[in-house]
Amino acid sequence: MLKVEHIGIAVKELSTAVPLFEKLLNSPCYKTETVESEKVNTAFFRKSETKIELLESTSAEGVIARFIDKKGEGLHHIAFEVQDIKAEMKRLQSEGFVLLNEEPKKGADNKLVCFLHPKGTNGVLIELCQERS
Ligand code: ZN
Repeated sequence: MLKVEHIGIAVKELSTAVPLFEKLLNSPCYKTETVESEKVNTAFFRKSETKIELLESTSAEGVIARFIDKKGEGLHHIAFEVQDIKAEMKRLQSEGFVLLNEEPKKGADNKLVCFLHPKGTNGVLIELCQERS
């Protein structure tokens, strides 16, 4: 793993969360993107090396909607940048971590991603991400 690439925060409404984070960080949202396969709208902020991803569900059945139903809005995942996602998935699997997807999938922000089951990571959902070439 190279570094924390971004921190994901589940929100009910981007329409109110985006202006709030713009005020909080004193910088504009630089990108919004819908990931149909994940049923999410995302909004990105950057402060120097640090990125924040806000996630809003596009469907009452989506993972973010279900997360908010259970836990409320808040910290959703921590994403680590990796150089070779397949190798890292293999390594973590051999260490006993449970992957939520067997193959890297297309995420927001031009990334290949894989999530680890939070039951094996002290309750924290971990995302691995690799820039798509
Ligand atoms: Zn993410």
